[in-house]
Amino acid sequence: MPTFDEARHMVLSRITTLGVERVPLLDAAGRVLAEEMVAPWCMPLCDSSAMDGFAVRAADCGSLPADLRVTGYIPAGGEICGDVAPGCAIRIMTGAPIPPGCDAVVPVEETSERGDVVTLHDPVRTGQHIRVTAEDVAVGETIITAGTLLRSPEISMLASFGRALVPVYRRARVAILSTGDELVELGEPLVPGKIINSNILSLAAAVREIGAEPLLLGIARDNRESHLEKMTEGLKADAFITSAGVSAGDRDLVRDILAELGVEQLFWKVEMKPGGPTAVAMFGGKPVFSLPGNPVSTMVTFEAFARPALLKMMGHRRIFRPVVTATLMNDLRKKPGKVNLIRVSLAKGEDGFQAYSSGIQQTALLKTMLRADALALFPSELETLERGATVQCHLLREELFMGEE
Ligand code: AMP
Ligand code: MG
Repeated sequence: MPTFDEARHMVLSRITTLGVERVPLLDAAGRVLAEEMVAPWCMPLCDSSAMDGFAVRAADCGSLPADLRVTGYIPAGGEICGDVAPGCAIRIMTGAPIPPGCDAVVPVEETSERGDVVTLHDPVRTGQHIRVTAEDVAVGETIITAGTLLRSPEISMLASFGRALVPVYRRARVAILSTGDELVELGEPLVPGKIINSNILSLAAAVREIGAEPLLLGIARDNRESHLEKMTEGLKADAFITSAGVSAGDRDLVRDILAELGVEQLFWKVEMKPGGPTAVAMFGGKPVFSLPGNPVSTMVTFEAFARPALLKMMGHRRIFRPVVTATLMNDLRKKPGKVNLIRVSLAKGEDGFQAYSSGIQQTALLKTMLRADALALFPSELETLERGATVQCHLLREELFMGEE
């Protein structure tokens, strides 16, 4: 049986990125750029004014106050006018091109005007308040490297260089299937002995949260035909996730039917808790995640295996959650031999994060997951962790990083 780390490595080392598609720029936000972007021109394209004021020749302003004759006007977006003669100035707006002959801009606040004469009161330095050609980006410079997550600043840069269509990695289409005779769908009548198929929705939400596309296949009943039919469909997607039916019960058909359909199992059972019975397989280059059915186990094993794999498929460089160190605020106890992923809530103490167990760590207790800001690692070989111990916490709510209470 692989350890938690070995199992993750077995999965992630097999994952390759999906293909590339060209999408309209705005649709590329939140996606990963698949090719290096090089500037086809420089920015700014020409010397331009950084202020509203007057374009002048610095040499005309040696003795103050200096009177200059205003002989023209260039608004933002205006065309460059002819040469500016000595002793003259051009009224100019922010962003407008600097006229030939001028080598400085004097802000309007530092001048006074009477008729067509402007008087400068402050010393003028050559080049002041001019945005120089190519000072931001040179022609041919790499503006964004392949593998970069496209956020608002990258969209701005790509827009500035006229990229209407952008090559990004495809979003993973992820088929999700629940298994079990006890399940009813949301909206159907619930009677004792039945439970609502919540896993399909928690998984779909988690898939959507990382920018992948969930395909909900519903419920496979606990018989071979139903499994075969649904799983045949599931194996057509880029990735396939099932929940339940993967333990050792006589109704647990998931692994057998997947094997019948030709998937290659990487492992079944991992030295971890929750999530011990997890199986992961490959079908061609596509991963198949068979997650245990208890809702907490389903979500935790999605976090541990499916989430980083799907992010990697979609080209992301950062595929793991940020890890913070925290001081444990409860005593914890377990049997040695399995790493435990403890649901903890985090608070900020004077010496950094404090981790509080979010309650009894049974996988059927959903409430503990709602209170979980992070999963704290309780190492495999240990039996006890005492209050005050240092634990590594994988942040489930990354906004905690930003200081949210
Ligand atoms: P199993 O591994 O098939 O025995 O499932 C384990 C337990 O997980 C079941 O007893 C259910 O309580 C729970 N479970 C299974 N499938 C779902 C589901 N789709 N939604 C919510 N809970 C589930
Ligand atoms: Mg079952």
